[in-house]
Amino acid sequence: MNDTYTPINEVGEFALIDRMKAVLDAPEDADVLAGIDDDAAVYRIDGDRVHVVTTDALIEAVHFDRVFMPMEYLGFKALSVNVSDVLAMNALPRFATIALGLPDNVSVEMVEALYRGLKHAASAYDVTIVGGDTTAARFLTLAVTVIGEAGEQNVVYRSGAQPGDVLCVTGDVGAAYAGLKVMLDQRRAMQDEGTAYQPNLEPFHYVIQRQLAPLARLPIVQDWAARAVRPHALIDISDGIASEVHHLCTQSGCGALIHAATLPIAPETHSVADLFAEDVDTYALFGGEDYELLFTLPDDDLEKLDPESFTAIGLMTEASEGVSVQMPEGDIIPLPFTGYQHFEEEE
Ligand SMILES: [Mg+2]
Repeated sequence: MNDTYTPINEVGEFALIDRMKAVLDAPEDADVLAGIDDDAAVYRIDGDRVHVVTTDALIEAVHFDRVFMPMEYLGFKALSVNVSDVLAMNALPRFATIALGLPDNVSVEMVEALYRGLKHAASAYDVTIVGGDTTAARFLTLAVTVIGEAGEQNVVYRSGAQPGDVLCVTGDVGAAYAGLKVMLDQRRAMQDEGTAYQPNLEPFHYVIQRQLAPLARLPIVQDWAARAVRPHALIDISDGIASEVHHLCTQSGCGALIHAATLPIAPETHSVADLFAEDVDTYALFGGEDYELLFTLPDDDLEKLDPESFTAIGLMTEASEGVSVQMPEGDIIPLPFTGYQHFEEEE
């Protein structure tokens, strides 16, 4: 034992994970194809089949506030974020287990509502919930494990991007962060004005739904398989485009140039950024929790994709060129490696 005490927020989430890996010092296992460094672990089960496994927890007061997160949505989101990590390996989700930590201010009916949300998501993603664990806890916690399957040759890692690849994203980005901004603002108003305050969330329906009930992009991955398209590299957007592009570049040994003017941003997200007098490109690049898929593929493969299903937002470059963004005004600036990281100190 040693007596050193390093506060976790001094090193941050990613350095902490490196420290954990150093302790495990896992020996090489020929059946393990991906481990801690990707969206999900991948290992061979039989012949050319692989399992893809991921676990993500949602913790009260860290990931959600019960005032704004109805139990059904919480269940739906908890499964969605895990399914998204399986899809981010180009695999299909199959089975899930649920570990619940329940404080004494959660009722049986609330747990049933949570499970209705889990069931709704399970049927949307064709996932079977096969078990889990239930325990007492200080805060409501929900840890979900999802197991997916794929052919070994079909798995796509973060590490496959090549200079010259086009960088693409599904759906739109920044909306989940806009939804969070609106909800935090409404909570502040309720605290300031008391119970008489009547929140009007109707104009913000789209962005709030993107925050509370994100839909993982299963149909996109199914469509790629139907069209026999396999991206070079793939990651899902949980911490924001900037952070995810840096992960792709680090693991692929590439650089990237993003064209901010091409970022797909919903009109509702623009409205929220205008309301708070903030830059909507910041929401799109650094806001997290969109659960869209970010992928790279060669120019020639773009025409094989459904043109409605993605937006090309940049190009992969040589590592020496770094990771940068061309702003709508034309200037090119380095893209900082920031996004949502746990254990960072609050400003
Ligand atoms: Mg991920």
